[in-house]
Amino acid sequence: MKILVLGANGQVGWELQRSLAPLGQVTALGRDGNAGLSGDLADVAGLVRTVRALAPDLIVNAAAYTAVDKAEADADLAQQVNCVAPGELAREAAQSGALLVHYSTDYVFDGAGSTPWKEDDATGPLSVYGRTKLAGEQAIRAAGGAHLIFRTSWVYAARGANFARTMLRLASERDRLSVIDDQVGAPTGADLIADVTAQAVSVLRRNRDLSGTYHLAAAGATTWNGYARFVLGIASNKYALALRATPEAVDPVPTSAYKTAAQRPLNSRLDTSKLESTFGLSLPSWQSGVARMLAEILEK
Ligand code: NDP
Repeated sequence: MKILVLGANGQVGWELQRSLAPLGQVTALGRDGNAGLSGDLADVAGLVRTVRALAPDLIVNAAAYTAVDKAEADADLAQQVNCVAPGELAREAAQSGALLVHYSTDYVFDGAGSTPWKEDDATGPLSVYGRTKLAGEQAIRAAGGAHLIFRTSWVYAARGANFARTMLRLASERDRLSVIDDQVGAPTGADLIADVTAQAVSVLRRNRDLSGTYHLAAAGATTWNGYARFVLGIASNKYALALRATPEAVDPVPTSAYKTAAQRPLNSRLDTSKLESTFGLSLPSWQSGVARMLAEILEK
């Protein structure tokens, strides 16, 4: 199987190169492309040429305009990257018979209530990012080809910057931290997303009727405050990291305490039962994934 991965240098794109390797020959392109192939989602013509030149059986689009606050003032580019380009990829895939995998977000919902969102629940994005991601989903469905859209939440990876690293740095500099405690969701590892992608693709290759949208997040839920406390607890108890701020020194604050350009949903819980029952999967707890990521960044 020939596989094209876009967004190769992002959190999920990086992990996909590992998880998809056993399924076939992977060509992974970042924004700058490689060997005359374009990986820039702002350049649709170049992207189409790339897809036609490679003729992949599977296209996995992990590229996205993910700067949620910046997108508020950069809506045209966000729309291009999160909607126009994925729609074009979907039309190319539909024409050639390739399978398209794409990622979307809990930010397509308005965050009301406390019930985990199901795939068919009414959407209501609060931000430019959420609206462009929702439009991208719709463009992919409209193309009519075989696809998997995975909506996920609160993605982290050991590689690069992440929330846990920020909390560890702040806790080494300050005696107390203030972290939001009214947004609820599940921190989800890029490695888990990539592994589930590989599993689902293997199943879909045999049964294209399973094409559709699935919620993919680690099990359980927490707040950013609970996430921060968990990270500091493991760092100090298991890795004896000398921190000035203990988990007890992480004060709860409401979202309204931080002014951000984009509004974020309060309830980001995703119901993953459709994914689990369709593909025979059991998603691990968010704590197990975060503990593993901490081992990777703290065990030298
Ligand atoms: P990252 O921000 O880590 O990676 C996104 C990648 O897209 C980056 O490598 C970025 O490249 C690339 N990119 C941006 N613009 C372009 C462009 N014009 N052409 C080509 N590549 C571009 O995101 P994640 O890996 O975390 O996200 C993967 C998917 O999951 C996305 O669809 C995202 O919307 C979704 N998601 C992410 C969440 C999160 O918390 N991060 C939460 C929910 C869903 P560069 O490095 O050059 O900017």
